[in-house]
Amino acid sequence: MPTIYMENTVNNPLVIRCKSCGGDQSFDIIKQQYVCAHCGSVTELNSQTAEFKSWKRLLQQKQQQSLSEAKMFKCPSCGAQTLAASDDASAICPFCQSTMVDTQFANTPIPEVIIPFKVTKEDAEKRLRDWISTNKSNPAAQTIEKNMQRFSGCYLPYHIVRGAFSGIMDIANQAGESQEYFFKAYLNHTAVNASKDWDNLFLDGIEPFDFNDAREFDYRYLINQSAKIQNVETSELAQRIKEETGSELHETLSEKVHTKEFAVNLFEQDNETILAALPVYLVQCENGIAAAVNGQTGKISVSTGKTINLTRNWWILPTVATLVVGLLSGFLGGLELGLILGAVFGILLFVIAHVRHNKVLEKEVLTAPKTKKSHNDTQAVFFADFGKGVVPARLEFITPWRVIKLILTFLVVIFLPALIAIVIQCCKGLSILDIHYGYGAAWYCIPGFFAIAFAGGMAKGMMYNAPMYYEILPDGTTKRRKVNSKQPSVLGYFFSQMNLMESKRSGCLVIGFLLFLLIGSVAAMLS
Ligand SMILES: [Zn+2]
Ligand SMILES: [Zn+2]
Repeated sequence: MPTIYMENTVNNPLVIRCKSCGGDQSFDIIKQQYVCAHCGSVTELNSQTAEFKSWKRLLQQKQQQSLSEAKMFKCPSCGAQTLAASDDASAICPFCQSTMVDTQFANTPIPEVIIPFKVTKEDAEKRLRDWISTNKSNPAAQTIEKNMQRFSGCYLPYHIVRGAFSGIMDIANQAGESQEYFFKAYLNHTAVNASKDWDNLFLDGIEPFDFNDAREFDYRYLINQSAKIQNVETSELAQRIKEETGSELHETLSEKVHTKEFAVNLFEQDNETILAALPVYLVQCENGIAAAVNGQTGKISVSTGKTINLTRNWWILPTVATLVVGLLSGFLGGLELGLILGAVFGILLFVIAHVRHNKVLEKEVLTAPKTKKSHNDTQAVFFADFGKGVVPARLEFITPWRVIKLILTFLVVIFLPALIAIVIQCCKGLSILDIHYGYGAAWYCIPGFFAIAFAGGMAKGMMYNAPMYYEILPDGTTKRRKVNSKQPSVLGYFFSQMNLMESKRSGCLVIGFLLFLLIGSVAAMLS
């Protein structure tokens, strides 16, 4: 096994050290400061930024002075540029296996931190071959197997984004107006790939990296292992950083509000980017097929070259939910009840699911282990004004309790004539088994009509007209708050939008008709 330079373990600018006790400090999104978990000392965001900037300046001076320790190579065949230790007389291109040639340093961005390889080439290759043999039926696996002679390791250039952001989450409500919610966020280690040869999605597949292993970059790490040089244009890199931070924030916020249908507009950011060399084994094949193995953790990512529709299975959840509701109610209350409830909830769920699902096409990326990129490193919190200034808040739109309340409301409406009939029958001292429940059929259709209208409203974002706010108190507990006293409930909003009561005359007609049908149904059941 080739020697790997492993010194210099102390200086890791990606970890914030406590000045009092030397432990790790992490960012507290509520307090907007770095706080030590061991002794409670704090570091202000701007003093950390200043310290980071002076570290960066010193490092750049050091690197310029020791440039002779490294050589730059260019591949005549694929154009890749790499940094290698100056003792390496010649270099083999890690991407196409051509012999590389010496080239000049020209405004080359040199890595500031590095995570050294931990997984050996043999081990990484074994892992990938294991993956191939368990995925034999996949044509991509066969292609990768044929190209395994190209399998090699290299440090790839990444920009690590860290820092504080604030912005507006913009959700469209039923009327198509945007509802705006203010948030503050903190990204800890968002890695943006800075080589144009691979797309983000494929390289995202091998994340996460453990940034506790990062060290200040030194040319001696390049002995026996070259580092690829950033080859995306500055403007494209800025665009990639914007996209990646935007999607990181979008995913973090969507976990908080349980929807993806919103836009994120950032208006303030106080962040830094760190150029990092991260250890990756790669094998690139034709037709967009490629495999990567994380050189620190061994995680595998495979781009199969196929495009898939991510939302092709949108109908599964409403189908299962409809069957569960239908069978359960049918089992408890008989065939008729099962059919009615199944139909009402089926229509409701399908309309919501269908309107809210958008076709999302994405390149297929398989990973092993199948874990998704975690967003634990990113924090976000909403802020709202409940009358005493802006305070941290939790925001909810669709909660289990809200859903239960809506279902209960529908159930009461559906069985209103039956419930009235039961009360009357009990008052008379007669048996409720004598009631003709089936005679309420005409009434049972009405909630069906409301359910369809309600589902339509939900699909168009009705919930976002009625957010629920909870203030986050200093001890971490939350307390329900209202931003203003006129804030409507979901059902209140729904009926105000139905325009049933538009004029006195139409309102009287609707109420009269419903009363007639209700009394008629009760009478029929008791007959
Ligand atoms: Zn401390
Ligand atoms: Zn090459």
